[in-house]
Amino acid sequence: MHRDYVEPYLAGVSDRCIKTTTCLYTVTSDFGFVIDSHPDSERVLVVSPCSGHGFKHSPAIGEAIAEVVIDGETRFDLSAFSARRFAASAQVASGASLHG
Ligand SMILES: Cc1cc2nc3c(=O)[nH]c(=O)nc-3n(C[C@H](O)[C@H](O)[C@H](O)COP(=O)(O)OP(=O)(O)OC[C@H]3O[C@@H](n4cnc5c(N)ncnc54)[C@H](O)[C@@H]3O)c2cc1C
Repeated sequence: MHRDYVEPYLAGVSDRCIKTTTCLYTVTSDFGFVIDSHPDSERVLVVSPCSGHGFKHSPAIGEAIAEVVIDGETRFDLSAFSARRFAASAQVASGASLHG
């Protein structure tokens, strides 16, 4: 791995391993985000750009959520990220769905 992925690109980084750790992240069953209000309080927003691909989307998600927080609504369609999509099958991988 070092020879193929590190050595050609990062000069001076040796193959001596000092410490390793398993890197974990949460995923939903469809690998999509959950962006929704909390079922018990419309004033609480659950914004979870997770499933291992949230970073590249974070500027757009931040812009949309800023509109929701400041204006109470956003011009972006966030319906695809509703936690309600899990309600039928209750299949949020890491636990119960937000909305029953
Ligand atoms: C191993 C791994 C690989 C990934 N690979 C990719 C990838 O290749 N591409 C990609 O697009 N995304 C990737 N992601 C996902 C991406 O990193 C996340 O989706 C993104 O960072 C989420 O942004 P966030 O701002 O919601 O949360 P975070 O980046 O987790 O930020 C939350 C912040 O809140 C702080 N915090 C937590 N609790 C408190 C508290 N009580 N008080 C004060 N501060 C607090 C934390 O310290 C942290 O700084 C990966 C994630 C992991 C774990």
